[in-house]
Amino acid sequence: MSRRPHVRKRYWNEPEMGLWEKAYLPEILRGLFITGGVFLRNMAKWMTGRKGALTTYYPEETRPDYAPANRGKHVLTRRPDGSPQCIACNMCATVCPAKVIEIEAGFDPADAAHPKFPVRFEIDYSRCVFCGLCVEACPEDAIRMAKEVPDLPAADRWTMWLGREELLAWQPQSDVAKPYPPAPKAPQGDRP
Ligand code: SF4
Ligand code: SF4
Repeated sequence: MSRRPHVRKRYWNEPEMGLWEKAYLPEILRGLFITGGVFLRNMAKWMTGRKGALTTYYPEETRPDYAPANRGKHVLTRRPDGSPQCIACNMCATVCPAKVIEIEAGFDPADAAHPKFPVRFEIDYSRCVFCGLCVEACPEDAIRMAKEVPDLPAADRWTMWLGREELLAWQPQSDVAKPYPPAPKAPQGDRP
């Protein structure tokens, strides 16, 4: 069986190396010179109490300019009466690739439209990969991700869980994708 000879694909914008680049070593030295210069400049600034590098010293520092579409902290949205929009269907927990969402469902027979609600809703941020699949899977728009990052760095991973009340308490009223439900009023009835 005859095989076609391999022909290397040529790109339309392939760079042409000059003599200096083909010599290899001068370009290596030029790269090291640039990198070393930036390193020494930043080090000098750091040692004299000024900030040189663009690096954010997280968690002591957080950036004010996260992109609007950044998938940061989770938010559980509320209905106008203040109750969680979540119907404890577990779809977010099922789709989560890191298996970090734990939900315990409650039952309220008095609410025919939404008889199920989350008694417990917890996310383990030590394992969350911030993929946003939970948001995509939710049929009720009950969970979203805001651009701000959670303030969670800790020495102990067991302190990196966020619970239902924390996820509900944080209620930004703006979103790049769609508006939030109206600001909540006081919860009605006995339902948590
Ligand atoms: S962002 Fe991804 S990893 Fe984090 S809870 Fe949602 S689905 Fe799970
Ligand atoms: S947040 Fe959405 S997907 Fe997750 S349990 Fe609640 S309603 Fe279902």
